[in-house]
Amino acid sequence: MDHAVIQRLIDRVTGPVLLAGQDGYDAERTSFNLAFPYRPDVIVGATDAQDVQAAVEFAAAHGLPVGVRATGHGASAATEGGLLITTRRMTEVRIDPQSRIASVGAGVRFDHLITEAAAHGLAPLNGSAPFVTVVPYTLGGGLSILARNCGYAADRVRGTEVVTADGQCRHVTPDSDPDLYWALLGGRDNFGIVTRLEMELVPVTHLYGGGLFFDAQQVPDLLEAYWRWTLTVPEQMDSSVALAPFPDLPQIPEPLRGRVIYHVRIAYLGSVDDGEQLIAPLRAAGPRLLDSVRLMPYTECGSIHNDPSMPAPWIGDSVMLTDLDQKAVATILAHATPDPAVPLIFEVRHLGGALARRPTAANAVGWRDARYLLSALTPLRGITARTAYPVLTGLLDAVKPWRMGRFLNFLAHTGPVTPNAADSSGALGVDVQELVRGAYQPEIYQRLTALKAVYDPENLFRLHYTIPPAAAPTVLSTT
Ligand SMILES: Cc1cc2nc3c(=O)[nH]c(=O)nc-3n(C[C@H](O)[C@H](O)[C@H](O)COP(=O)(O)OP(=O)(O)OC[C@H]3O[C@@H](n4cnc5c(N)ncnc54)[C@H](O)[C@@H]3O)c2cc1C
Repeated sequence: MDHAVIQRLIDRVTGPVLLAGQDGYDAERTSFNLAFPYRPDVIVGATDAQDVQAAVEFAAAHGLPVGVRATGHGASAATEGGLLITTRRMTEVRIDPQSRIASVGAGVRFDHLITEAAAHGLAPLNGSAPFVTVVPYTLGGGLSILARNCGYAADRVRGTEVVTADGQCRHVTPDSDPDLYWALLGGRDNFGIVTRLEMELVPVTHLYGGGLFFDAQQVPDLLEAYWRWTLTVPEQMDSSVALAPFPDLPQIPEPLRGRVIYHVRIAYLGSVDDGEQLIAPLRAAGPRLLDSVRLMPYTECGSIHNDPSMPAPWIGDSVMLTDLDQKAVATILAHATPDPAVPLIFEVRHLGGALARRPTAANAVGWRDARYLLSALTPLRGITARTAYPVLTGLLDAVKPWRMGRFLNFLAHTGPVTPNAADSSGALGVDVQELVRGAYQPEIYQRLTALKAVYDPENLFRLHYTIPPAAAPTVLSTT
């Protein structure tokens, strides 16, 4: 790109503007998933909404597609080219304890917000890993550890500040712009770059939670026991179960080393006594190698899943399920038995409860009626994504009879995609548009494409998971 042209962008923004080969370019573009690198033409490290506006206007003027990233924990349709806005410098948090509303900059991570909220006896609706970023997680729905209790994190959003494709910075609420508000919460970066988000916190200081660990060889029917148990619990009980081979390494707790482990994760907001009674059948399912379920301050909630926080290469995908039954459980196990050549990790999350209820202000989050979420991933150590992907899809195809669609925050990685190409398949042969379409019921997707034609008719925001604008911009009703 011509130096004089880039200089005009540099003159308008406070944060760094980085081109390939410059110091800082690689650090700024690096993702949590090392298997799918993204190489934009230019990166703008935004410090505020004005920087974002300048970057969007510049990209529109020069025909560059725009993408946005915070800490890069999201799966991505990894792309070549375009302009990437990074928001990790936008870390301001303001909390009004009376209204319980947090106003959160686009680059704020949950660990920061959890600490700030705890000082007021409050908590956000974070997911399993406190190191992901609040804004993208919430725009993608936000499936929290208290999901059955409190609904999607997106359902608690009261307003957003967003830079749209026309370069305007708008304050969007359900009253001011119901269509754009609806589309942003579930449509993520297809409708603009969110620079700030106002969300309701919940009055939670402690929870009864932790992990129950079983050896899969000793307790082979744990998945079925877990499924049967989920049929009996109230919506105050949130849980999931994962099956994973644990490496024989010193940093792994000794009882778990070198074994294939069922890890049941518990988050319960009722009393300790009630919680103990509720999980008693799970504790009785077989000998536990470790049991960390206890009353804990909410600030320790990241220990429930204990997700790995170091960047690594992996490939993953997920599907929402209408339900589970004995046949579904057997199908999952038949396709998920860890093969030493392609070690598959899967997780089943229990959905339902408040997730299935309509929020006060409607949004575009899909598949609210799903009862379970099945995710699978394979670490890419010594194997390629091409080898691993068919094993993942083998599992997810096998559960077709129970399959509804995908969850936006857990969409599959696709491998490099060229944003302007007619063919939207990535290197793994995954059609990105089909993948995104699968995250919504048909009527939600159709309405999103219609609104895309209104708010981003040139499809400026077409990096990553694109929703194309409808040919004729007819906006359908929100409900
Ligand atoms: C270990 C781990 C555990 C997870 N657990 C959960 C979980 O329990 N529940 C759950 O719901 N999700 C979960 N996720 C998924 C995670 O919430 C999403 O991937 C989220 O988008 C990550 O945000 P990020 O900033 O860290 O990622 P990024 O990769 O920086 O962003 C992801 C995407 O969000 C969009 N985006 C980013 N910033 C903006 C913006 N300012 N405006 C508009 N769009 C934007 C872009 O499309 C971008 O590609 C998990 C992810 C990981 C890695």
